[in-house]
Amino acid sequence: MAGDYDFDDDDAKETTKGGRLKEFDCPGCDANNPVHDGFGDGDELRCNYCGCEYKVKISAEGRTKFKEI
Ligand SMILES: [Zn+2]
Repeated sequence: MAGDYDFDDDDAKETTKGGRLKEFDCPGCDANNPVHDGFGDGDELRCNYCGCEYKVKISAEGRTKFKEI
């Protein structure tokens, strides 16, 4: 078709503001756990080291909190 528009859809939009986080430090054992799919407010995470599960809560200020399930 006419035109040669090249939509650049892999624009670097990696900002985490309101987005997904990629890792967390376990509140129980302090291990750093990468999360491949990312996580956000309300998600449940499991520590790969101690096996504890946590529910994520992100406050209005952007602080991440973990509540043991
Ligand atoms: Zn842990």
